[in-house]
Amino acid sequence: MSGVSFNRNRVKLKKLLGIRARLALLAVMLVAPLMLERVRSLEDARAKQIAMASEEYANITLHTAETQREVVSSVETMLKSAAYIRASSGIGRSCEILRASLPTNLPWIRSIMIVSKEGVVQCSTLNMLVGLNIGDRDYFRKAQQTRDFDFSDYLFARVSNRPILMAAYPVAAINPEEDAVVVAGINLDWMSKIMAKLGGRPGISALLVDSAGVVLAAPAEEASMIGQQLNNVPLLTAIAHKALVSDTPMGSLPFTAADGSQRAISFARIPGTQSRLIVSIDEAKITAAINRDIRTAYLQLGLVCLFVLIGALIGAEKLIINPIEVMTGMARRFGEGDWSARVSHSRLPSEFMPLARAFNAMAAQLSQRERELIATNDRLTVMASIDMLTGLANRRGFQSRLDFEWMKAQQYHTELSLLMIDVDHFKLYNDTYGHPEGDACLARIGEALAGIAADNLGFAGRYGGEEFCLLLPNTSPQKALEIGETVRATVQGLGLPHITSSHRTVTVSVGVAATLPNDAQTPGELIEAADAALYAAKHRGRNSVVEHGFAKLVDKAGIAMAG
Ligand code: GH3
Ligand code: MG
Ligand code: MG
Repeated sequence: MSGVSFNRNRVKLKKLLGIRARLALLAVMLVAPLMLERVRSLEDARAKQIAMASEEYANITLHTAETQREVVSSVETMLKSAAYIRASSGIGRSCEILRASLPTNLPWIRSIMIVSKEGVVQCSTLNMLVGLNIGDRDYFRKAQQTRDFDFSDYLFARVSNRPILMAAYPVAAINPEEDAVVVAGINLDWMSKIMAKLGGRPGISALLVDSAGVVLAAPAEEASMIGQQLNNVPLLTAIAHKALVSDTPMGSLPFTAADGSQRAISFARIPGTQSRLIVSIDEAKITAAINRDIRTAYLQLGLVCLFVLIGALIGAEKLIINPIEVMTGMARRFGEGDWSARVSHSRLPSEFMPLARAFNAMAAQLSQRERELIATNDRLTVMASIDMLTGLANRRGFQSRLDFEWMKAQQYHTELSLLMIDVDHFKLYNDTYGHPEGDACLARIGEALAGIAADNLGFAGRYGGEEFCLLLPNTSPQKALEIGETVRATVQGLGLPHITSSHRTVTVSVGVAATLPNDAQTPGELIEAADAALYAAKHRGRNSVVEHGFAKLVDKAGIAMAG
């Protein structure tokens, strides 16, 4: 059962998959591995590009962080020098040196000040800061406690209320006797300038954040973020935590931003501070170019596929379907009886030549056989309508000739006469001389009749047994009667001995009928009339001729009439 349904499905599939579809499928199967390989290499290229971009930005991040570190270490060096000065000189002298020596080549330092243990600014490169109390600032306290350099988080300057970063170094780190702290205000703008080279690139956003996640510096186009909590920065919320809690000096991690874009971030801690540089990369933007290339490549692949398919279809049409159609057309013509149908070699690809040659040879052989068959048939038809004993037409041959002459006479309005001739006492003849002799007798009579038919442009036949007929086209009843008499006399004249007959020789009785064939009569009626006349002739004592009054063609001359 399952075998049957499998076969049925296979047949369905075969119907569905014509030769064109199969070739197209083959073409696709050939192209598909190449396509897949191309797609794989494109996807590979995309992944490599992303990796390269990530690496490049990680390097930039590191480099930028390094630059920031240089800023920080230059500040540290500056503060240490100031602390030395303060440790070795009195407050007054130190302030003078500070003011005079704040190097102009460190533009990121906005001001340097010496602050008392309580946090009061004792002297500053910016006069307006003198007297200010920064004792409550974390960085200040931390520097005092740790006796080491400390870098503040983002804060607002007390006097100008501008965002600022502060660095503090306790003089106690050099001379434990001293309790002053050297403090520097750092220009945030300068930090942002360092990051400028990270900005302006599509898909990249770079930020410097403090330990609390407040943005300290950003490239110019993202300057609005400065001072904001990283949590409030669109897209970066999700990574803020991860980037901030990480203990590693630098790293990178992938994440999906709030807008659904796939991003990668690189972060690096600025040594000596709690700040971190965060560079976030939007993969979609970075890979926009390669994506465009990949789309073009996919389009090219699609076109190649399409061309291959069209090529396969055209190829199938030209190389397979057309030749098959040519051969089919030839076979159909041949089947419809056009025996001259042959496949033209010039229209076929060479692979089809042997088939075409075989086809043509078969066609030639078949048409030869057909000719022979027709000839044989013709011979058989002739044989089927000829009487073998006498060589005259048999009843079938006579019948068809009668139909033909009837039609012709009807068409030309000519008379048609018929003689029915029967051998008298032939049974007795057979009985007396034997059947073979009877055959010979019939053959002789047939021969004589053929002669008379030829003389009168008539058509003689053996109607059956010892009964003959003579069809006389275009012959009047009188003429027919005369010919009937000729027949009777000729047979008698043959002088074939018949001792058991009253005439002593073989004789015949003749029934004559004639008509002007018309639609109201049939050939059968002419035969019946001639038969009736023959019957009358027998009754008249045999060896006589009687005419039937068929079609009212009556000879008043006195010859006896039947019917
Ligand atoms: P009638 O004068 O009334 O015609 O008498 P008949 O004996 O000729 O007629 P009947 O119909 O009684 O006999 C016809 C005979 O013709 C009988 C048959 O043996 C013989 N016959 C018919 N066909 C052939 C044939 O082909 N060869 C021979 N030898 N005899 C035939
Ligand atoms: Mg008879
Ligand atoms: Mg007879």
